[in-house]
Amino acid sequence: MGSPRPPGVRLDKHMAGTLLIVSGPSGVGKTTICRELVKRLDAFLSVSATTRPRRENEVEGVDYHFLSTEEFEKRLRQGEFLEHARVYGGRYYGTPAKPVMDALAAGRTVILEIEIEGTLQVVKRLPQAIAIYILAPTPEDQKGRLEGRRKDSAEAMRERLSKADGEIRWAQECGAYRYFLVNETVEGTVDEMIRIVRESGFK
Ligand code: 5GP
Repeated sequence: MGSPRPPGVRLDKHMAGTLLIVSGPSGVGKTTICRELVKRLDAFLSVSATTRPRRENEVEGVDYHFLSTEEFEKRLRQGEFLEHARVYGGRYYGTPAKPVMDALAAGRTVILEIEIEGTLQVVKRLPQAIAIYILAPTPEDQKGRLEGRRKDSAEAMRERLSKADGEIRWAQECGAYRYFLVNETVEGTVDEMIRIVRESGFK
């Protein structure tokens, strides 16, 4: 899908910081990994906008900016998103560009936890971005983690699991990801990611 350059965002700013993209199938532990990275790297975690309903444990402005479809589409037209995609059930998800570009210009490490389509858009626009795809040690592990979360309906969980196989293949073939890491332990995965960021030459 082509993504026209949003008029409101300057991409020619000097990108002093490191842009890290974290993707992976549902239930692989991305959120825990990203939280740990934020602590250890004093990184800026992008808060996405979405039109999916808020879950009980989620906080507006912390987990997501929860928007109506109308509001999301308005911001999309105004060029406010660095990338966007329609995911489960056609819901919109998007990364507000300004906070990300400001944090990068200030030299910070910025983390985006986004899916594959969005990653492709970001990597195309900002090729310096380091995209990492996280895998569960086994498919059973992933199912167990997803069930353990108990935040989706059985139907939603089935959809997420059945999509995971195809997504992993897509991630491997699309060329956007520089690294594939198996999440055996959160600590090990985070250590490896920090090593990758440091070796990228930015920090
Ligand atoms: P969830 O609904 O479980 O929070 O997220 C569903 C999927 O949407 C996950 O794969 C997550 O990485 C992805 N996602 C979250 N925010 C964004 C975003 O801003 N842009 C894109 N492209 N994907 C996102």
